[in-house]
Amino acid sequence: MTEESTALYVVATPLGHLGDMTARAIEVLRRVPWVAAEDTRHSAPLLKHYGSRARLLAAHQHNEESAAEQVMARLSAGESVALVVDAGTPAISDPGARLVARVRAAGHRVVPLPGACAAIVALSAAGLSETHFLFYGFLPTKAGQRAQVLRELAPLPWALVFYEAPHRILDSVAALAAAFGPARTVVLARELTKLFESIHSCRLGEAHDWLLADADRQRGEFVVLVSGAPAATDNAEGERVLALLLDEGLPVSQAARLAQAITGAGKKTLYQMALRARPVPGDDEESAT
Ligand code: SAM
Repeated sequence: MTEESTALYVVATPLGHLGDMTARAIEVLRRVPWVAAEDTRHSAPLLKHYGSRARLLAAHQHNEESAAEQVMARLSAGESVALVVDAGTPAISDPGARLVARVRAAGHRVVPLPGACAAIVALSAAGLSETHFLFYGFLPTKAGQRAQVLRELAPLPWALVFYEAPHRILDSVAALAAAFGPARTVVLARELTKLFESIHSCRLGEAHDWLLADADRQRGEFVVLVSGAPAATDNAEGERVLALLLDEGLPVSQAARLAQAITGAGKKTLYQMALRARPVPGDDEESAT
């Protein structure tokens, strides 16, 4: 299939810096006769900037089904359509997924054109060392629901990526610290690719005060990244302390209990280690629970 055959092109647009549009995206926007846009008034000047004369269709979260019908009518007539949102990649905390699903289910070609996505841009500069990350997007706005979600996310070992609006950033950072504790690293990535871009890393317990210290730090759009839950305390340290206690002649269960209290390693694991080191007839794992 050639680039020229009829398709729905899913086109990422810049987050702020107009220079971040790819050459391929510009070529497609100039070639397609139609652009389906989240906000046609917002996208019109952008299209003009890139030299596109495409006609605009509205495709926002409240009309995705009917927009899909319109897009499919154009595709059936042999006319390609580009799908864009206000900034970044369609369908990422933005409309587009339902429209794309309908169009693909109807057998039309859907071609993604990669480009800016705030989560990925933030991750690339955050310096978090986790190999894996979980993109959550926007947290619930109601405090109870947000706390529930954060409780579920708290034990995950992966970097967590949230989107946040300026008027909720203080509340969200406070809720993150309450749910995850003060020690984890947080990265506040603000106004990415824009004039007042800033990327600040600190401990979660420090983030609220850092934001409060300067009202400018609370302005603009945010990606908030949090390091994953720390791995369970190193078993090697637990094993070392356990061995010392057993050498002192402490009973297996007492040595396991003390080693757990001293190192934070899992009590059951320590108990099993202690049993391997000094088997106790009739003892079993249940005693450790
Ligand atoms: N589809 C977009 C993407 O690909 O990233 C996300 C759209 S979502 C409606 C808007 C949110 O993305 C903002 O509230 C903010 O959390 C994040 N965002 C968008 N632009 C940003 C920027 N320049 N700097 C930091 N975060 C940004």
